[in-house]
Amino acid sequence: MLTDNHGRKINYLRLAVTDRCNLRCFYCMPEEGLNWLSRSELMSYEEMLRICSVLVKMGVDKIRITGGEPFVRKDIMSFLSELSRINGLDELTITTNGVLTAPHVSELKRIGVRSVNLSLDTLDAGRFFAITARDEFAAVMNTLDELLKYDIDVKINAVVMDGKNIEDIVPLVQMTRDLPVSVRFIEEMPFNGDGHIYSGLKWDYTRILEEIKTHFPGLRKTEDAPFSTSYNYHIPDHRGGVGIIAAYSRTFCGTCNRIRITPVGELKTCLYDGGGINVKELMRGGLASEDLQNNIINALHHRAKDGWEAERGRSVKDGVHESMATIGG
Ligand code: SAM
Ligand code: SF4
Repeated sequence: MLTDNHGRKINYLRLAVTDRCNLRCFYCMPEEGLNWLSRSELMSYEEMLRICSVLVKMGVDKIRITGGEPFVRKDIMSFLSELSRINGLDELTITTNGVLTAPHVSELKRIGVRSVNLSLDTLDAGRFFAITARDEFAAVMNTLDELLKYDIDVKINAVVMDGKNIEDIVPLVQMTRDLPVSVRFIEEMPFNGDGHIYSGLKWDYTRILEEIKTHFPGLRKTEDAPFSTSYNYHIPDHRGGVGIIAAYSRTFCGTCNRIRITPVGELKTCLYDGGGINVKELMRGGLASEDLQNNIINALHHRAKDGWEAERGRSVKDGVHESMATIGG
């Protein structure tokens, strides 16, 4: 079993396969996009398969593919198919914006993807455009339909943004009445690639909860799964559930079981840290798998206690500002 210096079990990898994206979510990316990484800077699929195999041998049993938008990377389905065949990997999941995903849903089901996180901050096409700067609401809703049709477990991620989508909280909760989806409201974080000044958190998890309770007085707390990052709730007679993720308040660090690998191969032991070892460079330097494992163990033995400590460990000029797309959300 893989553990860190605070005794936390590590069994979950979030792998960002690209920094590129076909949306420009206000809270994630500047409108003109980022300075895209060149192909040689990105990890190749072969490198990703190798590092995933190494990590699975070390105790990782769940991998989430994220980005950027995973489905903009060429040949992503062949990669996912190969990844799904790694012995010892129990769960392969994906986080997607849903713009290009619908045609791949049947294949996702076939290779064993049981759960997908779909990012959807609003149920209004106009507000969708205002948030993402792209007219793709219908495509995302089509992906939602396909996922449900193929009986894939859907979690909807909605970032709560003051002045942008507060009016969507109630309709998104309402959606769980008829659809078997879990809608998770996420506190906005400062990782926006400097697309706008982060004006501080106005909607924290307690305020989001109050807003939901006001409109749904029957809301009841349910048990949170071990290592869950969300506080989970249910409303009587609703088919789906509701969650709130205190991503900025960082209330879940004590049980954090996850590590991240960015599109350039940086291994991050905390979302808020400034980056650690670079597994792509180590592999390109010809490191044997055993030495790679030792480097990973060493990085985990220097892991921050929580996101606050990790953030304090950054230099001032390197404050929290990068895009979630270059970290892997
Ligand atoms: N493009 C895919 C998507 O949007 O689902 C995957 C990558 S995206 C970076 C992963 C998740 O990070 C999304 O659910 C998105 O809403 C979330 N995210 C991005 N920037 C964020 C921010 N500044 N604060 C909170 N969540 C953010
Ligand atoms: Fe793209 Fe996802 Fe970031 Fe939106 S949140 S800009 S969809 S990477």
